[in-house]
Amino acid sequence: MTAYNVLYIEDNPDNMRLVKRALDARGYIFHGAVNGLAGIQMAESIIPVVILLDINLPDIDGYEVARRIRKHRDSAVRQIPIIAITANTLKGDAEQALDAGCDVYMSKPINIRELWARVEAFLPDDGFLAK
Ligand code: MN
Repeated sequence: MTAYNVLYIEDNPDNMRLVKRALDARGYIFHGAVNGLAGIQMAESIIPVVILLDINLPDIDGYEVARRIRKHRDSAVRQIPIIAITANTLKGDAEQALDAGCDVYMSKPINIRELWARVEAFLPDDGFLAK
């Protein structure tokens, strides 16, 4: 049985706790990073199956994180799917997230069932969660 690494880049401890609990419950190996640069470094070292990405971060914003991931020198990093999770519900923010290289976006408050479904959609075909 494969357990998948999921990385969440988020500076809000309440959201971090909520998502960690939800992903732990589904058997994922959860990794958290509290700012953009730490998140990119962690992505490089663990190559998660998906990155969950907050947009408002204390250093570089989520759009910039997504752009750096998509332009990364390592193709394994470039190909990591990114789910933007944003409190910015204006239409333009979603478009900006997609333009920056995010694959999909979710808006806050985080809905756990939607989160599970979004993450599962990016698992490899042999993902144990698909059974
Ligand atoms: Mn934030």
